[in-house]
Amino acid sequence: MARKSATVFASVVAGVAVLVVGCSDPASDSAPASTTATSGRAAPAPASGQAAPAPGNLPRITILATGGTIAGKANANSAVGYTAGEASAKDLIDAVPGIDKIATLSTEQISNIGSQDMSDAVWLPLARRINEIFAGNKADGVVITHGTDTIEETAFFLDNVVAADKPVVLAGSMRPSTALSADGPANLRSAVQVAASPDARGHGTLVVLNDTIHGAHDVTKTNTTSLQTFVSPNDGPVGHVDAAEVHFYRPATEQHRPRFPVPENSMPRVDIVYSYAGVDADPVNDALGHDAKGIVLAGVGDGNTAKPVLSALGDAAKKGIIAVRSTRVGSGSTVRNAEVNDDDLGTVASLDLNPSKSRILVQLLLVNDITDPHKVQDAFATR
Ligand code: GLU
Repeated sequence: MARKSATVFASVVAGVAVLVVGCSDPASDSAPASTTATSGRAAPAPASGQAAPAPGNLPRITILATGGTIAGKANANSAVGYTAGEASAKDLIDAVPGIDKIATLSTEQISNIGSQDMSDAVWLPLARRINEIFAGNKADGVVITHGTDTIEETAFFLDNVVAADKPVVLAGSMRPSTALSADGPANLRSAVQVAASPDARGHGTLVVLNDTIHGAHDVTKTNTTSLQTFVSPNDGPVGHVDAAEVHFYRPATEQHRPRFPVPENSMPRVDIVYSYAGVDADPVNDALGHDAKGIVLAGVGDGNTAKPVLSALGDAAKKGIIAVRSTRVGSGSTVRNAEVNDDDLGTVASLDLNPSKSRILVQLLLVNDITDPHKVQDAFATR
């Protein structure tokens, strides 16, 4: 069994520590150590009103480390065990030869946790820090190292609250840094390539593992141990990356989901209720008893569940609780008013958002006082 460390750095509450390692300071005017981009691409175009990087300069990428297997080290007393979140941000980039030829790097340690312990206690300072970096034109892109278990949730949260269209790329790994054929160094290199690519602009927050680029809305983990665990089941990946180049399969879309300000305080409680043969309404009532302001159904099939559960969800919706039907299936859309009459019940169909991402969207809507079921439905329909 893997032993997990759960150390949230004091910097999360007290402001982040900034460690600039082995590379020039992107905030300074000094030239980077190297000016040869192996990606063969120019630095990203600046947002309007911002200064362009000087010609010949490499893109400036800030790596924000949060922990996970990519920072994991083998456990001496077990053949398979390891501790997630042991290696520092500097350790991670030191393991990637030539990474300083792709971009001028700086690193900050946001936390060092296994992502099973990820929560808005880390998300909020992380998002604020990214917005601060971009607002101050301190970087052309941000890479976040993260555990794979909840990487899709962090990506989705950031996709909704990062104010700039500069690239934000999350990378993880399935094998710890001390494993044979550790995948972390290659994934980190790929993520830096993507973040340094001008083509990544406007794609929203991205997740990069195993040479594949995924969008935050669709990406999901599908296998407990395989390197090829991440898929985008409904839309497919947005691109791939190889040693030489970054390839996007489609241009960035003009339309985005409504963006939200970073919440000032921890987000309201929203529970996920899992459905199965023989389920009763107790989990819904328990959620309400714990003051949940929203409930997301991880339903069977097309977001369906047993009659007592549907009826409890309808009662909750009539009391002003946001009740969303999603599905435990893993792909496909939960269709409004198909198997379940959402108009009658006051429920909302999650469409192609899975339960954990639906939960985050409901939290953000609650923070922004959007609770009317039709407006909530519109928010789920907007991408
Ligand atoms: N459960 C740990 C985490 O999500 C390790 C899994 C991983 O990173 O792949 O951080």
